[in-house]
Amino acid sequence: MDLEFLQSMDVQILAGVAVAVLAVVVTAAAFLFSSKKPKGCLDPENFKEFKLVKRQQLSHNVAKFTFELPTPTSVLGLPIGQHISCRGKDSQGEEVIKPYTPTTLDSDVGYFELVIKMYPQGRMSHHFREMRVGDYLSVKGPKGRFKYQPGQVRAFGMIAGGSGITPMFQVARAILENPKDTTNVHLIYANVTNDDILLKEELDSLAAKYPGRFNVYYVLNQPPEVWNGGVGFVSKEMIQTHCPAPAHDIQILRCGPPPMNKAMGAHLEALGYSTEMLFQF
Ligand SMILES: Cc1cc2nc3c(=O)[nH]c(=O)nc-3n(C[C@H](O)[C@H](O)[C@H](O)COP(=O)(O)OP(=O)(O)OC[C@H]3O[C@@H](n4cnc5c(N)ncnc54)[C@H](O)[C@@H]3O)c2cc1C
Repeated sequence: MDLEFLQSMDVQILAGVAVAVLAVVVTAAAFLFSSKKPKGCLDPENFKEFKLVKRQQLSHNVAKFTFELPTPTSVLGLPIGQHISCRGKDSQGEEVIKPYTPTTLDSDVGYFELVIKMYPQGRMSHHFREMRVGDYLSVKGPKGRFKYQPGQVRAFGMIAGGSGITPMFQVARAILENPKDTTNVHLIYANVTNDDILLKEELDSLAAKYPGRFNVYYVLNQPPEVWNGGVGFVSKEMIQTHCPAPAHDIQILRCGPPPMNKAMGAHLEALGYSTEMLFQF
């Protein structure tokens, strides 16, 4: 073999290697780019300001607040099962910070929504009542002990009271809208009157869209004349009938006002549930 032939072989091999390396780099970059989640807008250490762009009154004391994210393609970046801290001023001008769970997911881009029940004497309720389109809300997060991973349990039992529905709605939506997730969700949702039920349309439409996967049982303290849900407070019997039986692969999630949380804790213990998780008000 002469020198010229060897040199041309070297050049061909080198060119081949270069093309192969380039192909690997381009493929890896394309994979990384396509699988990279958009960066979230939250900071766990510092409050960030989000502009209120829409406010929709849902009932006499409940409103849906829509906040704009920095760009139309931004996502909030809140892991499923976590919440945000919102800071405001009460009627005395004192600072107040409370937890809230958006009803939107990261599949909703460019904005996030809060459904807020405003209590007459509530400190943060005052702040939300006073908020107008164009105002900014200070938000910090993500926060919370619970983080949902698809497939972590076979089924969830959920017990919610009043505005305690929002963390449950967020987890249920994420489960049901993920085609790879087969987890079942059984929700008991307690309120005083029919008008107090938050997100009713959304919950009923999830139940209609995912029969067998998502069930909701409403319980009212003061039911209307015609009512086919539960009546009174959530009882042990209601939990036995409407939640999955205690097992290693089920979990009960609950969120509600403190007296309800206390009563539900006692019921769950008496029924032998060891895998439950409380979202503290
Ligand atoms: C994880 C988590 C997520 C939450 N997400 C939401 C949400 O998305 N939307 C929402 O509206 N709330 C949500 N809450 C409740 C919220 O954090 C506040 O507790 C609520 O807004 C009341 O705060 P406040 O400062 O206005 O009332 P406070 O000043 O704390 O309470 C004053 C008075 O208001 C009444 N009150 C307050 N809370 C309740 C209650 N739960 N039930 C009945 N009466 C009450 C009572 O009369 C009380 O004495 C969530 C709570 C948790 C733990």
